[in-house]
Amino acid sequence: MTRLAGAQEEGRVEDAFRFADELGPLMIVHIHRPSLGLKAVVAIDNTACGPSVGGVRMAPDVSTEEAFRLARAMTLKNAAAGLPHGGGKSVIFGDPRMPRAQKERLIRGFAAAIRDLADYIPGPDMGTDETAMAWIKDETGRSVGLPRELGGIPLDEIGATGFGLAEAVDVAVGQIGLSLKGARVAVQGFGSVGIHAARYLGKKGTILVAASDTQATIVDTDGLDIEALSALKAAGRSVKEYPRGRVLDRDAVIDMPCDIWIPAARPDVITAENVARLDTRIVAQGANIPCTPEAERALAVRGILVLPDFIANAGGVICAATEYQQGTQSQAFAAIEEKIRANTMAVLADAKRSGTLPREAAVSLAVGRIRRAMQTRRWDSR
Ligand code: NAD
Repeated sequence: MTRLAGAQEEGRVEDAFRFADELGPLMIVHIHRPSLGLKAVVAIDNTACGPSVGGVRMAPDVSTEEAFRLARAMTLKNAAAGLPHGGGKSVIFGDPRMPRAQKERLIRGFAAAIRDLADYIPGPDMGTDETAMAWIKDETGRSVGLPRELGGIPLDEIGATGFGLAEAVDVAVGQIGLSLKGARVAVQGFGSVGIHAARYLGKKGTILVAASDTQATIVDTDGLDIEALSALKAAGRSVKEYPRGRVLDRDAVIDMPCDIWIPAARPDVITAENVARLDTRIVAQGANIPCTPEAERALAVRGILVLPDFIANAGGVICAATEYQQGTQSQAFAAIEEKIRANTMAVLADAKRSGTLPREAAVSLAVGRIRRAMQTRRWDSR
């Protein structure tokens, strides 16, 4: 059954069906509570594999389209990871730095409005955190990414996504005859994902030669001290305050010769205009959609191996799904390692066999699983 709500946003009536294809979306729900100043959109894309899981993003400039695109990305990511979950996402219009009491009121109001949307399980995303998930759980009885006291596995603290990324890279290097011992790593966006990816790869013998944040790139070809750099970031400072190495401008990280380049900041950072600047053998996508389709094709032409985002950065959602099943932290790590290694191997083998891009092989893997799941569902199979 497809249920789509009519949409009114910024005074504009939208045609919600413009996103529709054979997979979804199943529902797009617009929420408006004027007394709370609450405007939000929930996109439930596909639930053939199970109730949808996806983050709650809070930002002043979110949109219905963003909610849908992110929900679709979760459909593919969750199916590729073999999780019993479909894809969903929600966006709340607002500045996430608003006073705490106001934010709690808004998020609790949002949670009350989605109480009966049982096919959507909220998780943290930009502008929301584990405390926000605790408020949502309190109102609805369901959310992931909870504080430890409520049975949560703090995925950013343990570095679930960075750990998975390092496992994907470990599989990929075997395909191109690169050894991790002494391999040079550059990270764009030294935040939660970037720091942990550098840390877990470092345990496998790599050297971090460059790291960037919104203010600068820090470079040391002899190797940056990951713990010292992450202590700086934890103190709210910039990589440019690192006491050794060379400080360059923010985007200089793109030009840094390395073996493994990790985008872990924003979408669309590598485009047709700057892709030729990359001097690496592997691009391991920590961020979601960091390369445009043209840039990904250009990298393939140059023989640079791209590990697609929704395969390589699925560690966070695998951890969240383990938490939802009341699993433990060590079960989460085991599931991330097993699933990401298997998927990376399958995707790279299929791409090689069929001469397609790894992303195309990954989409085909995920969509194949969703289609098979849809055949088992009464309302999705016809
Ligand atoms: P974060 O906020 O902890 O870290 C982001 C880092 O990127 C910060 O250090 C910030 O200074 C830096 N940054 C922002 N814009 C930049 C730019 N233009 N150039 C260089 N650095 C820049 O966020 P995170 O949780 O590490 O997430 C990073 C990306 O990975 C996001 O795109 C997110 O959607 C994606 N992602 C995160 C997870 C997760 O588990 N946290 C899972 C999957 C995907």
